[in-house]
Amino acid sequence: TNIPRIVVLGAGYAGMMTTKRLTQQFAPEEAEITLVNKHNYHYQTTWLHEVAAGTIDVNRSRIMISDVINTRRVNFVQDMVKKIHPDKKQVELESGTLDYDYLVIGLGFEKATFGIPGMDEHAFSIQTVDKSRMIRDHIEYQFSRYKTEENPSDDMLTIIVGGAGFTGIEFVGELAERIPVLCKKYDIPRNRVKIINIEAAPSILPGFDQELLEYAKDSLSRRGIDFLTSTMIKEVKKDAVIVGDEKEEIKCGTFVWTGGVQANRIVGESGFELTKGKVNVDQTLRAPGYEDVFVLGDCAWVMNKDTETPYPPTAQIAIQEADVCAHNIRTLIFGGTLQEFFFDNKGTVASLGGGEAMGTIFDGHQLYGLQAKMMKHVIDDRYLFMLGGPALVLKKGKFRPF
Ligand code: FAD
Repeated sequence: TNIPRIVVLGAGYAGMMTTKRLTQQFAPEEAEITLVNKHNYHYQTTWLHEVAAGTIDVNRSRIMISDVINTRRVNFVQDMVKKIHPDKKQVELESGTLDYDYLVIGLGFEKATFGIPGMDEHAFSIQTVDKSRMIRDHIEYQFSRYKTEENPSDDMLTIIVGGAGFTGIEFVGELAERIPVLCKKYDIPRNRVKIINIEAAPSILPGFDQELLEYAKDSLSRRGIDFLTSTMIKEVKKDAVIVGDEKEEIKCGTFVWTGGVQANRIVGESGFELTKGKVNVDQTLRAPGYEDVFVLGDCAWVMNKDTETPYPPTAQIAIQEADVCAHNIRTLIFGGTLQEFFFDNKGTVASLGGGEAMGTIFDGHQLYGLQAKMMKHVIDDRYLFMLGGPALVLKKGKFRPF
């Protein structure tokens, strides 16, 4: 029999929702669906700043794939994708190969270093569950070390976060909550610890409304975050960053880079054309030159036809792309009209730690403080509901009755 083989790479927002939608679009005898991921769990990338700061437990951000995907219906392969051979329609895994008729790439992002010396070797990044847990442990280790060294320098306790985009700001917000807890645990006065956010642009949160970013800056400054804007990071060392034209050195014990992301390197290494680190997909979400390869989420740029600029990749977009992708694969197999992607902006809310948050909802209405925080929880729980129904909301949701 010639059942079409659909292979989905990566179980992030894009991969999980596409797999889910494919199981709804196709009867079991109509298509063979395979999902490949390096872990047996899916994680909430949008919660990783909390894992990295240590304000939520690692397991809270993970969901077992078999809990939300019917593994009798979907062939789940736990393996590492090494390379894609689009001309052979084949995926190379660590332990074998997979042939496909239709491919969905949802392998997510990795740190973009822009060639800044030392960034690869010395910067942490909030990228995966494992890397985020490492940041949490490293920060705590510095506190622990401070208490045992003979002449400890306060620099050991300095945390520098490079980048004041969404991730950088959400992360320092969590640190503002976490550091007082660590200070208490290790008997260290709070004023010994510095948290510095460094941003090359003149303001934090480029792209956000002025009122929102001022609210964020006030809230974070009040809770002990220092901001250095219009400041370029020139080099990263083991225990310092070098900034500005004067090459000023700022010592630190921890440096976390949130200043840039690009597509998983496998995409470029497999020969897909990259523009600013990602694949420019067409409106039907396919890679240029390949009618059978869809690229979703943080691996892709999708053009906003109204503004002629690409949408900034977010979880919200990745989730919405899944619908169009699943529909278009069905169309390619059974005929019909291909759908074009249009982003339905439901709003953006950034958490700032504790009860603090700010953002806009779909009509541009601004929200602050607890109200914004509640909206953030609604957004998170809505995704969990889409993925795993009420049971998953009860188990992993932010509004829990216990
Ligand atoms: P991911 O969710 O990163 O998933 C990629 C998957 O691929 C992972 O499961 C990974 O294990 C797997 N994988 C990678 N390499 C391989 C390999 N070689 N072999 C097998 N599997 C592999 N967006 C919002 O909309 N709202 C927010 O509030 C928000 N907050 C954020 C906060 C933080 C701290 C960060 C880092 C991002 C945030 N974002 C937010 C952005 C959002 O998380 C990303 O846009 C989204 O995760 C992209 O989804 P994805 O499916 O492309 O990739």
